[in-house]
Amino acid sequence: MSQAFDVVVIGAGPGGYIAAIRAAQLGFKVACIDEWKNAAGGPAPGGTCTNVGCIPSKALLQSSEHFEHANHHFADHGISTGKVTMDVAKMVGRKDTVVKQNNDGILYLFKKNKVTFFHGRGSFVKAADGGYEVQVSGDKPETLVGKQVIVATGSNARALPGTPFDEENVLSNDGALRIGAVPKKLALIGSGVIGLEMGSVWRRLGADVTILEGLPTFLGAVDEQIAKEAKKAFDKQGLKIELGVTVGEIKTGKKGVSVAYTNAKGEAQTLDADKLIVSIGRVPNTIGLNAEAVGLALDERGAIVVDAECRTNLPGVWAVGDVVRGPMLAHKAEEEGVAVAERMAGQHGHVNFNTIPWVIYTSPEIAWVGRTEQQLKADGVAYKAGTFPFLANGRARALGDTTGMVKFLADATTDEILGVHIVGPMASELIAEAVVAMEFKASAEDIARICHAHPSLSEATKEAALAVDKRTLNF
Ligand SMILES: Cc1cc2nc3c(=O)[nH]c(=O)nc-3n(C[C@H](O)[C@H](O)[C@H](O)COP(=O)(O)OP(=O)(O)OC[C@H]3O[C@@H](n4cnc5c(N)ncnc54)[C@H](O)[C@@H]3O)c2cc1C
Repeated sequence: MSQAFDVVVIGAGPGGYIAAIRAAQLGFKVACIDEWKNAAGGPAPGGTCTNVGCIPSKALLQSSEHFEHANHHFADHGISTGKVTMDVAKMVGRKDTVVKQNNDGILYLFKKNKVTFFHGRGSFVKAADGGYEVQVSGDKPETLVGKQVIVATGSNARALPGTPFDEENVLSNDGALRIGAVPKKLALIGSGVIGLEMGSVWRRLGADVTILEGLPTFLGAVDEQIAKEAKKAFDKQGLKIELGVTVGEIKTGKKGVSVAYTNAKGEAQTLDADKLIVSIGRVPNTIGLNAEAVGLALDERGAIVVDAECRTNLPGVWAVGDVVRGPMLAHKAEEEGVAVAERMAGQHGHVNFNTIPWVIYTSPEIAWVGRTEQQLKADGVAYKAGTFPFLANGRARALGDTTGMVKFLADATTDEILGVHIVGPMASELIAEAVVAMEFKASAEDIARICHAHPSLSEATKEAALAVDKRTLNF
Protein backbone atom coordinates (compact mmCIF):
# COMPACT_ATOMS: atom_id res chain seq x y z
CA MET A 1 0.00 0.00 0.00
CA SER A 2 1.59 3.31 -1.02
CA GLN A 3 1.24 6.67 0.69
CA ALA A 4 0.35 9.60 -1.56
CA PHE A 5 1.93 13.07 -1.27
CA ASP A 6 1.81 16.23 -3.32
CA VAL A 7 5.58 16.55 -3.00
CA VAL A 8 8.24 13.97 -2.16
CA VAL A 9 11.66 15.44 -1.35
CA ILE A 10 14.68 13.09 -1.50
CA GLY A 11 17.47 14.37 0.76
CA ALA A 12 17.21 16.54 3.87
CA GLY A 13 20.34 18.66 3.49
CA PRO A 14 19.91 22.46 3.28
CA GLY A 15 18.42 22.13 -0.21
CA GLY A 16 15.93 19.39 0.62
CA TYR A 17 14.79 20.24 4.13
CA ILE A 18 14.25 23.91 3.30
CA ALA A 19 12.35 22.97 0.10
CA ALA A 20 10.16 20.61 2.15
CA ILE A 21 9.35 23.27 4.75
CA ARG A 22 8.58 25.95 2.15
CA ALA A 23 6.39 23.53 0.15
CA ALA A 24 4.47 22.64 3.33
CA GLN A 25 4.03 26.35 4.15
CA LEU A 26 2.49 26.76 0.71
CA GLY A 27 -0.14 24.11 1.47
CA PHE A 28 1.34 20.99 -0.14
CA LYS A 29 1.24 17.59 1.56
CA VAL A 30 4.98 16.91 1.82
CA ALA A 31 7.23 13.91 2.56
CA CYS A 32 10.98 14.24 3.03
CA ILE A 33 13.28 11.20 2.91
CA ASP A 34 16.84 11.17 4.25
CA GLU A 35 19.20 8.29 4.90
CA TRP A 36 21.87 9.94 7.10
CA LYS A 37 22.41 8.02 10.35
CA ASN A 38 23.82 9.36 13.60
CA ALA A 39 26.23 7.23 15.69
CA ALA A 40 23.26 5.40 17.26
CA GLY A 41 21.73 4.64 13.86
CA GLY A 42 18.96 7.23 14.27
CA PRO A 43 18.02 9.94 11.79
CA ALA A 44 20.40 12.87 11.34
CA PRO A 45 18.76 15.27 8.88
CA GLY A 46 20.72 18.30 7.70
CA GLY A 47 22.95 16.59 5.15
CA THR A 48 26.62 17.24 4.59
CA CYS A 49 26.20 20.80 5.87
CA THR A 50 24.94 19.82 9.31
CA ASN A 51 26.74 16.50 9.81
CA VAL A 52 30.17 16.81 8.18
CA GLY A 53 30.34 20.27 6.63
CA CYS A 54 29.43 23.85 7.46
CA ILE A 55 28.31 23.41 11.06
CA PRO A 56 30.91 21.00 12.53
CA SER A 57 33.75 22.78 10.73
CA LYS A 58 32.66 26.09 12.24
CA ALA A 59 32.41 24.49 15.70
CA LEU A 60 36.02 23.26 15.45
CA LEU A 61 37.19 26.57 13.98
CA GLN A 62 35.66 28.35 16.99
CA SER A 63 37.24 26.00 19.55
CA SER A 64 40.65 26.14 17.91
CA GLU A 65 40.46 29.93 17.64
CA HIS A 66 39.78 30.20 21.38
CA PHE A 67 42.83 27.99 21.96
CA GLU A 68 44.96 30.18 19.70
CA HIS A 69 43.76 33.34 21.46
CA ALA A 70 44.41 31.90 24.91
CA ASN A 71 47.90 30.84 23.85
CA HIS A 72 49.01 33.83 21.85
CA HIS A 73 46.75 36.87 22.30
CA PHE A 74 45.38 36.94 25.87
CA ALA A 75 48.71 38.28 27.11
CA ASP A 76 48.23 41.41 24.92
CA HIS A 77 45.14 42.16 27.03
CA GLY A 78 47.01 41.68 30.30
CA ILE A 79 45.52 38.26 30.89
CA SER A 80 47.96 35.63 32.02
CA THR A 81 47.09 31.97 32.11
CA GLY A 82 48.97 28.89 33.15
CA LYS A 83 49.84 26.39 30.48
CA VAL A 84 46.87 26.21 28.13
CA THR A 85 45.96 22.67 27.11
CA MET A 86 43.46 21.28 24.66
CA ASP A 87 41.27 18.25 25.33
CA VAL A 88 40.65 17.19 21.73
CA ALA A 89 38.06 14.57 22.69
CA LYS A 90 36.05 17.24 24.52
CA MET A 91 36.35 19.66 21.61
CA VAL A 92 35.12 16.97 19.19
CA GLY A 93 32.35 16.04 21.66
CA ARG A 94 31.18 19.66 21.77
CA LYS A 95 31.15 19.70 17.97
CA ASP A 96 29.00 16.53 18.00
CA THR A 97 26.57 18.19 20.42
CA VAL A 98 26.27 21.22 18.14
CA VAL A 99 25.57 18.87 15.22
CA LYS A 100 22.90 17.02 17.19
CA GLN A 101 21.19 20.27 18.19
CA ASN A 102 20.91 21.08 14.49
CA ASN A 103 19.65 17.55 13.59
CA ASP A 104 17.00 17.79 16.31
CA GLY A 105 16.10 21.30 15.23
CA ILE A 106 15.29 20.07 11.73
CA LEU A 107 13.14 17.19 13.04
CA TYR A 108 11.28 19.75 15.16
CA LEU A 109 10.79 22.02 12.13
CA PHE A 110 9.39 19.08 10.14
CA LYS A 111 6.83 18.44 12.89
CA LYS A 112 5.98 22.12 13.20
CA ASN A 113 5.39 22.43 9.45
CA LYS A 114 3.67 19.02 9.10
CA VAL A 115 6.34 17.55 6.83
CA THR A 116 6.29 13.74 7.10
CA PHE A 117 9.86 12.51 7.56
CA PHE A 118 11.04 9.07 6.40
CA HIS A 119 14.42 7.74 7.53
CA GLY A 120 15.98 5.63 4.79
CA ARG A 121 17.14 5.68 1.21
CA GLY A 122 14.74 7.05 -1.40
CA SER A 123 14.90 5.46 -4.86
CA PHE A 124 12.79 6.01 -7.94
CA VAL A 125 10.73 2.96 -8.88
CA LYS A 126 8.67 4.14 -11.85
CA ALA A 127 6.45 6.86 -13.17
CA ALA A 128 3.12 6.29 -11.44
CA ASP A 129 -0.37 7.48 -12.12
CA GLY A 130 -0.12 11.26 -11.78
CA GLY A 131 3.44 11.29 -10.46
CA TYR A 132 6.33 9.04 -9.40
CA GLU A 133 6.64 6.02 -7.17
CA VAL A 134 9.54 6.29 -4.72
CA GLN A 135 10.69 3.41 -2.53
CA VAL A 136 12.01 4.14 0.96
CA SER A 137 14.40 1.41 2.04
CA GLY A 138 15.53 1.40 5.63
CA ASP A 139 14.32 0.09 8.96
CA LYS A 140 10.71 0.70 7.94
CA PRO A 141 10.36 0.24 4.15
CA GLU A 142 7.60 2.33 2.57
CA THR A 143 6.31 3.09 -0.87
CA LEU A 144 5.44 6.70 -1.56
CA VAL A 145 3.84 8.31 -4.57
CA GLY A 146 4.61 11.97 -5.16
CA LYS A 147 2.79 14.13 -7.68
CA GLN A 148 6.05 16.08 -7.79
CA VAL A 149 9.54 15.10 -6.63
CA ILE A 150 12.45 17.30 -5.55
CA VAL A 151 15.85 15.59 -5.66
CA ALA A 152 18.34 17.12 -3.20
CA THR A 153 20.84 14.30 -2.73
CA GLY A 154 23.90 16.53 -2.38
CA SER A 155 27.52 15.60 -3.02
CA ASN A 156 30.38 13.42 -1.78
CA ALA A 157 34.08 14.19 -1.31
CA ARG A 158 36.20 13.52 -4.40
CA ALA A 159 38.97 10.96 -3.77
CA LEU A 160 42.36 11.02 -5.50
CA PRO A 161 42.42 8.37 -8.23
CA GLY A 162 43.95 5.20 -6.73
CA THR A 163 43.81 6.53 -3.15
CA PRO A 164 40.42 5.84 -1.59
CA PHE A 165 39.52 7.42 1.75
CA ASP A 166 40.17 5.04 4.65
CA GLU A 167 39.27 7.78 7.19
CA GLU A 168 42.23 6.56 9.26
CA ASN A 169 45.26 7.81 7.33
CA VAL A 170 43.64 9.32 4.25
CA LEU A 171 40.77 11.51 5.35
CA SER A 172 37.84 13.16 3.63
CA ASN A 173 36.03 16.06 5.30
CA ASP A 174 34.26 13.44 7.42
CA GLY A 175 37.45 11.98 8.93
CA ALA A 176 39.07 15.43 9.14
CA LEU A 177 36.33 16.47 11.58
CA ARG A 178 36.87 13.40 13.77
CA ILE A 179 40.65 13.32 14.31
CA GLY A 180 41.09 12.10 17.88
CA ALA A 181 44.45 13.68 18.75
CA VAL A 182 46.46 16.54 17.28
CA PRO A 183 48.67 15.04 14.57
CA LYS A 184 52.30 16.08 14.74
CA LYS A 185 52.43 16.48 10.99
CA LEU A 186 49.36 16.96 8.86
CA ALA A 187 49.35 17.00 5.06
CA LEU A 188 46.49 18.31 2.97
CA ILE A 189 45.95 18.15 -0.76
CA GLY A 190 43.88 21.06 -2.05
CA SER A 191 44.01 24.64 -0.78
CA GLY A 192 40.36 25.46 -1.41
CA VAL A 193 37.82 26.47 1.22
CA ILE A 194 37.73 23.11 3.01
CA GLY A 195 41.52 22.62 2.91
CA LEU A 196 42.19 26.05 4.36
CA GLU A 197 39.56 25.71 7.08
CA MET A 198 40.66 22.23 8.17
CA GLY A 199 44.34 23.16 7.90
CA SER A 200 43.69 26.19 10.12
CA VAL A 201 41.92 24.14 12.80
CA TRP A 202 44.75 21.65 13.22
CA ARG A 203 47.56 24.22 12.84
CA ARG A 204 46.03 26.27 15.66
CA LEU A 205 46.02 23.15 17.82
CA GLY A 206 49.73 22.59 17.20
CA ALA A 207 50.04 20.42 14.07
CA ASP A 208 52.76 21.15 11.54
CA VAL A 209 50.50 21.65 8.50
CA THR A 210 51.49 21.56 4.82
CA ILE A 211 48.95 22.07 2.06
CA LEU A 212 49.84 20.92 -1.45
CA GLU A 213 47.97 22.68 -4.25
CA GLY A 214 48.06 21.72 -7.91
CA LEU A 215 47.14 25.14 -9.26
CA PRO A 216 49.89 27.73 -9.67
CA THR A 217 47.83 30.54 -8.11
CA PHE A 218 46.47 30.73 -4.58
CA LEU A 219 42.66 30.95 -4.37
CA GLY A 220 42.24 31.65 -8.07
CA ALA A 221 38.53 32.44 -7.73
CA VAL A 222 39.19 35.15 -5.15
CA ASP A 223 40.09 38.76 -6.03
CA GLU A 224 43.89 38.72 -6.50
CA GLN A 225 44.58 41.56 -4.06
CA ILE A 226 42.48 39.86 -1.37
CA ALA A 227 44.04 36.43 -2.00
CA LYS A 228 47.53 37.96 -1.73
CA GLU A 229 46.67 39.60 1.60
CA ALA A 230 45.22 36.32 2.92
CA LYS A 231 48.29 34.34 1.80
CA LYS A 232 50.54 36.81 3.64
CA ALA A 233 48.55 36.21 6.83
CA PHE A 234 48.59 32.41 6.44
CA ASP A 235 52.37 32.45 5.80
CA LYS A 236 52.84 34.47 9.00
CA GLN A 237 50.78 31.93 10.95
CA GLY A 238 53.01 29.10 9.72
CA LEU A 239 50.42 27.44 7.47
CA LYS A 240 52.67 26.08 4.71
CA ILE A 241 51.08 26.20 1.27
CA GLU A 242 52.97 24.86 -1.76
CA LEU A 243 51.48 25.87 -5.09
CA GLY A 244 51.86 24.32 -8.54
CA VAL A 245 52.67 20.80 -7.32
CA THR A 246 51.93 17.51 -9.06
CA VAL A 247 51.00 14.79 -6.62
CA GLY A 248 52.42 11.34 -7.34
CA GLU A 249 52.28 8.13 -5.38
CA ILE A 250 50.68 8.09 -1.93
CA LYS A 251 51.75 5.35 0.46
CA THR A 252 50.06 4.58 3.75
CA GLY A 253 51.48 2.48 6.55
CA LYS A 254 51.71 2.14 10.32
CA LYS A 255 53.66 5.38 10.56
CA GLY A 256 51.14 7.42 8.59
CA VAL A 257 51.23 8.68 5.05
CA SER A 258 53.91 9.51 2.56
CA VAL A 259 53.06 11.76 -0.39
CA ALA A 260 55.43 11.88 -3.36
CA TYR A 261 55.10 15.04 -5.41
CA THR A 262 56.90 17.28 -7.85
CA ASN A 263 57.16 20.90 -6.77
CA ALA A 264 56.67 23.98 -8.97
CA LYS A 265 60.39 23.91 -9.89
CA GLY A 266 60.03 20.33 -11.14
CA GLU A 267 61.95 18.82 -8.20
CA ALA A 268 60.88 15.45 -6.77
CA GLN A 269 59.79 15.77 -3.12
CA THR A 270 58.29 13.59 -0.40
CA LEU A 271 55.97 14.80 2.34
CA ASP A 272 55.63 12.47 5.33
CA ALA A 273 52.75 13.06 7.69
CA ASP A 274 50.69 11.36 10.37
CA LYS A 275 47.48 12.03 8.45
CA LEU A 276 46.48 13.24 5.00
CA ILE A 277 43.31 15.23 4.30
CA VAL A 278 42.27 15.20 0.66
CA SER A 279 40.11 18.21 -0.19
CA ILE A 280 40.13 18.40 -3.97
CA GLY A 281 36.46 19.07 -4.56
CA ARG A 282 33.17 17.25 -4.40
CA VAL A 283 31.14 15.14 -6.79
CA PRO A 284 27.35 15.22 -7.20
CA ASN A 285 25.69 12.28 -5.44
CA THR A 286 23.03 10.18 -7.15
CA ILE A 287 24.09 6.84 -5.63
CA GLY A 288 21.01 4.80 -4.78
CA LEU A 289 18.59 7.20 -6.43
CA ASN A 290 17.90 4.74 -9.27
CA ALA A 291 17.71 7.65 -11.71
CA GLU A 292 17.75 5.18 -14.65
CA ALA A 293 14.38 3.71 -13.61
CA VAL A 294 12.62 6.90 -14.65
CA GLY A 295 15.15 8.19 -17.21
CA LEU A 296 16.36 11.15 -15.12
CA ALA A 297 19.15 12.80 -17.15
CA LEU A 298 22.63 13.25 -15.66
CA ASP A 299 25.53 15.12 -17.24
CA GLU A 300 29.09 13.85 -17.74
CA ARG A 301 30.02 14.88 -14.14
CA GLY A 302 27.13 12.88 -12.74
CA ALA A 303 25.13 16.02 -11.88
CA ILE A 304 21.40 16.05 -12.54
CA VAL A 305 20.72 18.18 -15.61
CA VAL A 306 18.44 21.12 -14.78
CA ASP A 307 17.36 24.33 -16.47
CA ALA A 308 17.79 27.77 -14.90
CA GLU A 309 14.71 27.07 -12.73
CA CYS A 310 15.83 23.63 -11.47
CA ARG A 311 13.49 21.63 -13.74
CA THR A 312 14.91 18.27 -14.80
CA ASN A 313 14.14 16.49 -18.08
CA LEU A 314 11.14 14.80 -16.37
CA PRO A 315 7.85 16.65 -15.86
CA GLY A 316 7.23 17.23 -12.15
CA VAL A 317 10.79 16.29 -11.10
CA TRP A 318 13.04 19.08 -9.85
CA ALA A 319 16.60 19.02 -8.48
CA VAL A 320 18.45 21.51 -6.24
CA GLY A 321 21.72 22.06 -4.39
CA ASP A 322 25.06 20.27 -4.79
CA VAL A 323 23.57 17.59 -7.06
CA VAL A 324 23.03 20.20 -9.82
CA ARG A 325 25.25 22.81 -11.53
CA GLY A 326 26.43 25.94 -9.76
CA PRO A 327 28.40 26.64 -6.61
CA MET A 328 28.35 23.94 -3.92
CA LEU A 329 27.17 26.17 -1.09
CA ALA A 330 24.50 25.53 1.54
CA HIS A 331 22.79 28.89 1.04
CA LYS A 332 22.65 28.38 -2.74
CA ALA A 333 20.96 25.00 -2.11
CA GLU A 334 18.47 26.64 0.27
CA GLU A 335 17.61 29.44 -2.15
CA GLU A 336 16.99 26.91 -4.92
CA GLY A 337 14.83 24.82 -2.57
CA VAL A 338 12.63 27.80 -1.70
CA ALA A 339 12.40 28.92 -5.33
CA VAL A 340 11.33 25.42 -6.51
CA ALA A 341 8.62 25.15 -3.84
CA GLU A 342 7.29 28.57 -4.87
CA ARG A 343 7.39 27.66 -8.58
CA MET A 344 5.41 24.49 -7.83
CA ALA A 345 2.79 26.74 -6.22
CA GLY A 346 2.63 28.92 -9.34
CA GLN A 347 4.69 31.69 -7.77
CA HIS A 348 7.81 33.30 -9.21
CA GLY A 349 10.65 31.80 -7.19
CA HIS A 350 13.89 33.63 -7.82
CA VAL A 351 17.60 32.95 -7.26
CA ASN A 352 20.09 35.66 -8.19
CA PHE A 353 23.33 33.81 -8.95
CA ASN A 354 25.16 37.15 -9.23
CA THR A 355 24.65 37.95 -5.57
CA ILE A 356 25.51 34.66 -3.89
CA PRO A 357 28.10 35.40 -1.19
CA TRP A 358 31.17 33.21 -0.66
CA VAL A 359 32.94 32.88 2.69
CA ILE A 360 36.10 31.16 3.88
CA TYR A 361 36.04 30.98 7.68
CA THR A 362 39.78 31.15 8.27
CA SER A 363 41.47 33.84 10.30
CA PRO A 364 41.42 36.30 8.66
CA GLU A 365 38.05 35.46 7.16
CA ILE A 366 37.63 35.93 3.43
CA ALA A 367 34.26 36.88 1.94
CA TRP A 368 33.10 38.21 -1.36
CA VAL A 369 30.14 38.84 -3.62
CA GLY A 370 30.04 39.76 -7.28
CA ARG A 371 32.89 40.00 -9.71
CA THR A 372 36.62 40.20 -8.94
CA GLU A 373 38.97 42.80 -10.43
CA GLN A 374 40.47 40.14 -12.72
CA GLN A 375 36.99 39.13 -13.95
CA LEU A 376 36.05 42.75 -14.69
CA LYS A 377 39.28 43.16 -16.68
CA ALA A 378 38.57 39.95 -18.60
CA ASP A 379 35.00 41.12 -19.28
CA GLY A 380 36.28 44.52 -20.50
CA VAL A 381 34.22 46.42 -17.93
CA ALA A 382 35.43 49.91 -16.97
CA TYR A 383 35.46 50.05 -13.17
CA LYS A 384 36.65 52.07 -10.18
CA ALA A 385 38.18 50.41 -7.11
CA GLY A 386 38.24 51.58 -3.50
CA THR A 387 39.93 49.88 -0.57
CA PHE A 388 40.07 50.56 3.15
CA PRO A 389 42.41 48.72 5.55
CA PHE A 390 41.20 47.42 8.92
CA LEU A 391 44.43 48.91 10.30
CA ALA A 392 42.69 52.29 10.11
CA ASN A 393 39.46 51.10 11.74
CA GLY A 394 39.02 51.89 15.45
CA ARG A 395 36.97 48.78 16.28
CA ALA A 396 39.52 46.50 14.59
CA ARG A 397 42.28 48.10 16.66
CA ALA A 398 40.23 47.63 19.84
CA LEU A 399 39.67 43.99 18.91
CA GLY A 400 43.37 43.58 18.21
CA ASP A 401 42.60 42.24 14.75
CA THR A 402 43.70 44.68 12.07
CA THR A 403 44.65 42.31 9.25
CA GLY A 404 43.06 42.89 5.87
CA MET A 405 40.79 45.28 4.07
CA VAL A 406 37.43 45.91 2.43
CA LYS A 407 37.50 46.45 -1.32
CA PHE A 408 34.73 47.87 -3.51
CA LEU A 409 34.53 47.59 -7.28
CA ALA A 410 32.01 49.90 -8.95
CA ASP A 411 31.07 50.64 -12.54
CA ALA A 412 33.18 53.56 -13.81
CA THR A 413 30.17 55.31 -15.35
CA THR A 414 27.12 54.42 -13.25
CA ASP A 415 28.89 53.76 -9.91
CA GLU A 416 26.80 50.56 -9.50
CA ILE A 417 28.56 48.12 -7.16
CA LEU A 418 29.95 45.20 -9.19
CA GLY A 419 31.82 43.36 -6.45
CA VAL A 420 32.79 43.62 -2.80
CA HIS A 421 35.73 41.67 -1.41
CA ILE A 422 36.75 41.45 2.23
CA VAL A 423 39.64 39.84 4.03
CA GLY A 424 39.67 40.48 7.75
CA PRO A 425 37.74 40.14 11.00
CA MET A 426 34.07 39.09 10.70
CA ALA A 427 34.15 39.27 6.92
CA SER A 428 31.42 36.59 6.97
CA GLU A 429 29.03 39.00 8.67
CA LEU A 430 30.17 42.19 6.91
CA ILE A 431 29.52 40.73 3.47
CA ALA A 432 25.75 40.71 4.11
CA GLU A 433 25.56 44.48 3.69
CA ALA A 434 27.27 44.19 0.31
CA VAL A 435 24.86 41.43 -0.78
CA VAL A 436 21.86 43.60 0.12
CA ALA A 437 23.41 46.57 -1.66
CA MET A 438 24.04 44.57 -4.84
CA GLU A 439 20.59 42.95 -4.75
CA PHE A 440 19.10 46.47 -4.67
CA LYS A 441 21.54 47.59 -7.38
CA ALA A 442 23.03 50.22 -5.08
CA SER A 443 25.89 52.48 -6.10
CA ALA A 444 29.09 52.83 -4.06
CA GLU A 445 27.88 56.32 -3.17
CA ASP A 446 24.67 54.87 -1.65
CA ILE A 447 26.79 52.93 0.86
CA ALA A 448 29.09 55.90 1.41
CA ARG A 449 26.06 58.06 2.36
CA ILE A 450 24.57 55.55 4.84
CA CYS A 451 25.20 56.11 8.56
CA HIS A 452 27.21 53.20 10.03
CA ALA A 453 27.56 52.65 13.79
CA HIS A 454 30.78 53.78 15.44
CA PRO A 455 32.96 52.08 16.38
CA SER A 456 32.20 49.10 14.16
CA LEU A 457 33.95 47.02 11.56
CA SER A 458 31.17 48.03 9.16
CA GLU A 459 32.68 51.51 9.06
CA ALA A 460 35.45 49.94 6.97
CA THR A 461 32.75 49.02 4.44
CA LYS A 462 31.50 52.61 4.32
CA GLU A 463 35.07 53.90 4.03
CA ALA A 464 35.86 51.49 1.17
CA ALA A 465 32.76 52.82 -0.61
CA LEU A 466 34.06 56.36 -0.01
CA ALA A 467 37.45 55.24 -1.35
CA VAL A 468 35.82 54.50 -4.72
CA ASP A 469 35.40 58.29 -4.99
CA LYS A 470 38.87 58.85 -3.43
CA ARG A 471 37.46 60.54 -0.35
CA THR A 472 38.10 58.30 2.66
CA LEU A 473 37.79 60.16 5.95
CA ASN A 474 39.96 58.01 8.20
CA PHE A 475 42.79 56.95 5.92
C1 LIG B 1 33.89 20.50 5.41
C2 LIG B 1 32.83 21.28 4.66
C3 LIG B 1 32.55 22.58 5.05
C4 LIG B 1 31.58 23.30 4.37
N1 LIG B 1 31.35 24.58 4.79
C5 LIG B 1 30.41 25.30 4.14
C6 LIG B 1 30.12 26.62 4.58
O1 LIG B 1 30.70 27.12 5.55
N2 LIG B 1 29.15 27.30 3.92
C7 LIG B 1 28.49 26.76 2.85
O2 LIG B 1 27.63 27.43 2.28
N3 LIG B 1 28.75 25.52 2.42
C8 LIG B 1 29.68 24.78 3.04
N4 LIG B 1 29.91 23.50 2.63
C9 LIG B 1 29.14 22.97 1.48
C10 LIG B 1 27.74 22.54 1.93
O3 LIG B 1 27.86 21.57 2.95
C11 LIG B 1 26.95 21.99 0.76
O4 LIG B 1 26.94 22.92 -0.29
C12 LIG B 1 25.50 21.70 1.18
O5 LIG B 1 25.45 20.77 2.21
C13 LIG B 1 24.68 21.18 -0.02
O6 LIG B 1 23.38 20.94 0.40
P1 LIG B 1 22.47 19.85 -0.33
O7 LIG B 1 21.15 19.91 0.35
O8 LIG B 1 22.52 20.04 -1.78
O9 LIG B 1 23.18 18.44 -0.05
P2 LIG B 1 23.71 17.71 1.25
O10 LIG B 1 23.91 18.65 2.37
O11 LIG B 1 24.85 16.88 0.83
O12 LIG B 1 22.49 16.77 1.68
C14 LIG B 1 22.07 15.70 0.91
C15 LIG B 1 21.31 14.74 1.81
O13 LIG B 1 20.67 13.77 0.99
C16 LIG B 1 20.82 12.50 1.58
N5 LIG B 1 20.68 11.50 0.51
C17 LIG B 1 21.46 11.32 -0.58
N6 LIG B 1 20.94 10.38 -1.38
C18 LIG B 1 19.82 9.95 -0.78
C19 LIG B 1 18.83 9.00 -1.11
N7 LIG B 1 18.86 8.32 -2.26
N8 LIG B 1 17.81 8.80 -0.24
C20 LIG B 1 17.74 9.49 0.92
N9 LIG B 1 18.64 10.41 1.29
C21 LIG B 1 19.66 10.64 0.44
C22 LIG B 1 22.20 12.54 2.22
O14 LIG B 1 22.30 11.56 3.23
C23 LIG B 1 22.20 13.96 2.77
O15 LIG B 1 21.63 13.98 4.06
C24 LIG B 1 30.88 22.73 3.29
C25 LIG B 1 31.13 21.42 2.92
C26 LIG B 1 32.09 20.70 3.58
C27 LIG B 1 32.35 19.28 3.16
